[in-house]
Amino acid sequence: MRRGELMAGDVVIIGGGPVGLLTGIKLLEKGFEVEIYEEDKQVGYPQHCTGIVSFKTLELYPIEGQDLIINKLRGVRLRISDKFLEEYVASTPKAIVIDRILLEKRLYWKYIDMGGEIYLDKRMDPKILAGDIKKKNGVVINAGGAKELIKSGYKDVLTGFQVDIESVDKWIKDDVTEIYVDKELNSEYFCWITPLSNNHMRIGTASSERIRDIVYQIGENLGIPMNKVVREFGGIVIAGGPRKKFMDKNIVYVGDSAGMNKITTGGGLNYGGNGAIILTDMLYNEELTNYRSRWIEKFKRELQIQGILRDLFLTMDEDEIVEVMTILSKTEIFNALLATGDMDYHASDLHKLLFERDLMRIVLGKGRFRRILRKLFTKI
Ligand SMILES: Cc1cc2nc3c(=O)[nH]c(=O)nc-3n(C[C@H](O)[C@H](O)[C@H](O)COP(=O)(O)OP(=O)(O)OC[C@H]3O[C@@H](n4cnc5c(N)ncnc54)[C@H](O)[C@@H]3O)c2cc1C
Repeated sequence: MRRGELMAGDVVIIGGGPVGLLTGIKLLEKGFEVEIYEEDKQVGYPQHCTGIVSFKTLELYPIEGQDLIINKLRGVRLRISDKFLEEYVASTPKAIVIDRILLEKRLYWKYIDMGGEIYLDKRMDPKILAGDIKKKNGVVINAGGAKELIKSGYKDVLTGFQVDIESVDKWIKDDVTEIYVDKELNSEYFCWITPLSNNHMRIGTASSERIRDIVYQIGENLGIPMNKVVREFGGIVIAGGPRKKFMDKNIVYVGDSAGMNKITTGGGLNYGGNGAIILTDMLYNEELTNYRSRWIEKFKRELQIQGILRDLFLTMDEDEIVEVMTILSKTEIFNALLATGDMDYHASDLHKLLFERDLMRIVLGKGRFRRILRKLFTKI
């Protein structure tokens, strides 16, 4: 495909989520004419995301951002059922909770102000659309999110569910998010308890079954006033890394539809936002065939380690996780990583822990050595 052959109106984006809208904005900046089709009546709704991102992630999105920040987080409290409790707090904020609905609304207005076309309440079939514009050498960018990923046969997903609770001032610290592991209740994922503003908090987790019951049970186990839930919401959490192909004829995938998510947490605003930037650069520079390898190059090491961490979480029992965390908490490297580390590249620096013998004994035990080796040498 050559830039000269792309005609006006030939880039069509399916999905007006954050990644679709960012892709649209970046293409308009480069002089393309763009149309976005969004199946919902308004952008931003229904919300499915917790909204925890790094400061750098927010900067990927070219909009005024300060008032999108609902809360700033300085640290994490890790609780493993009733066996382990430790807090890791940095001196400055490391992450923020953003207003996801406002993020999408801002992107929408920026896109409209730049002259972009968007059709709301319009569900489109990517294959039909791709056929229609093929004659003109046009491209369909599929930014339709996790549902579009699942349509391709991708299976490594869980249902995410969360609730917002009001008036919880006695329970929660303003700037520390809690990660709660209770393998008996949920062996597939951790649970997050995140402070919002005005004494509100958000509790959620992901699972393949009984998700709503699990969230309410977690709240009850922790003594959280679940009768003060003001909102329930959720969506699909992607846990298997990127899809094998980012292009299928003249359909190009970006964001959740491409599986551009952290394997450990499902977070996709950073990896998908970077995906939008890489894709639009490559489209402009006529190098679309290298699009996947360019994105993989940026995140490969991180994804490999995240894949191993996810595997460890699934295969270790609670006592082993406690043992690992007890050792880690005493190492200087781990504490330094938490104080200075980058939440979007949280796994890459972990190789520094390879020399912690006691740690390696547990991690590599029970046949995990082979699994880890296999993961390290499997092509992403
Ligand atoms: C429970 C949960 C918590 C999360 N928490 C975080 C977090 O804290 N931090 C983080 O970074 N990420 C988080 N994520 C992930 C994050 O929400 C996604 O990575 C992000 O929304 C991806 O953006 P996207 O634009 O690719 O897809 P989406 O946000 O899913 O947007 C896709 C859009 O496409 C539209 N669409 C789909 N199909 C069609 C069609 N055929 N025609 C027209 N329109 C269509 C949809 O209506 C939607 O608006 C979370 C996800 C879940 C489920």
